[in-house]
Amino acid sequence: MREDFLHFIWKFRLYTKELYTTGGEELIVIHPGQHNADAGPDFTNAQIRLGKTRWAGNTEIHVKSSEWYVHGHHTDNAYSNIILHVVYEHDRSVYDRNGREVPTLELKGKFSESIFQKYFYYLNNKNWIPCEKDLHYLSIEKVNIWLNSLLIGRMERKAANLRSLLEHNKNNFEETFYQVLAGNFGFKINEQPFRMLAAVLPLQILGRHKNSLMQIEALLFGSAGLLNADFQDEYPRALKKEFEFLRNKYQLVPVQGHLWKFMRLRPPNFPTIRIAQFAALVHKSQRLFMKIIETDGIAGLIELFDVEASSYWDNHFVFDKPSEGSTKKLGKEAIQNLLLNTVVQMLFLYSLVKADERYQEKAVEFLMQIEPEINSIIKGWKAVGIDAKNAFESQALIELKNNYCNQKKCLSCSIGLDLLKMNS
Ligand code: SF4
Repeated sequence: MREDFLHFIWKFRLYTKELYTTGGEELIVIHPGQHNADAGPDFTNAQIRLGKTRWAGNTEIHVKSSEWYVHGHHTDNAYSNIILHVVYEHDRSVYDRNGREVPTLELKGKFSESIFQKYFYYLNNKNWIPCEKDLHYLSIEKVNIWLNSLLIGRMERKAANLRSLLEHNKNNFEETFYQVLAGNFGFKINEQPFRMLAAVLPLQILGRHKNSLMQIEALLFGSAGLLNADFQDEYPRALKKEFEFLRNKYQLVPVQGHLWKFMRLRPPNFPTIRIAQFAALVHKSQRLFMKIIETDGIAGLIELFDVEASSYWDNHFVFDKPSEGSTKKLGKEAIQNLLLNTVVQMLFLYSLVKADERYQEKAVEFLMQIEPEINSIIKGWKAVGIDAKNAFESQALIELKNNYCNQKKCLSCSIGLDLLKMNS
């Protein structure tokens, strides 16, 4: 037996209706209380009736009642108002620090052991999703309700993580959006240098050169530390010259150029191409975040992100090395990735800070219109019968797999609750 499982049985009242304490008193559970994950009693504010007396207070749960002494609760003031000790096996009477015998409920034999066997199976099998063989018992509606809650939790958590960045930027949403967007333009491999680039080159400076794509490119490539070579081509030579002037003007300290990774990337994903596309986006849209706030529908968003690198890059992937001709548009998959990881999360943050749910609703609508990611987690869910139809579902499934299934948190999972209850 495991204590976390007993918490589950207590919390969801999965025991028999007629209950008596080990002292023979009739027990009615009015409310099991709130689960306490911190130090102190396991459930607070529980309400019970013992015989004719109604009690309100805390409950403590153990596999064996003697653990009360092992954990030192008999001398701890935090346990002096325990109204009920809930145990699997009663092997010893227990007393609190005031010498009062604590009423005890023994759960052994009072719930279906097959629930525990099923839980034990989920804990110990090696399936990709521990409950995957039982998922077909649940209606898709039930699964979707849980996915909905997981998604909102995931987005709120990510938005909360961005809050400190917003505060660092003195609540400037445009600057924060620019920095988050820059990081995501690195598409994981170059996320770090892109973040550093945005940190050394504030949006405010770029904004002063909003009418000149060439100056925006000079500022970005120069601050990225990618204009230090002796170039052959006229274009990088001009960028370098322009940057030298702007660097002195704004006292810019470039990122070290060697931080950018080209290895194992397809040439269209080279950081040079991404910086050129980023420059095009900065040039195209002033106050981009406010434009996003005002945009309805995914088509309008995609239009905002529909940019291509300047013409030099039509036949280059890096400076001074000509390549076959092709325009370097920001692709559909890259745009979806940026919408998912930047736009949606910033809308959640905006909703949180402004305490206005309309922006969260807008973010959710966008998620439902974005195609699901294609990765090993989403493929895995498809293989067990759950096929994400959009990014809303795929994000929720990623959350479920990473933060619940992988950690075997079946007792905190709605799907787990429903499946285990079927065995009661
Ligand atoms: S966490 Fe939920 S979905 Fe994952 S294995 Fe457990 S019960 Fe199933």
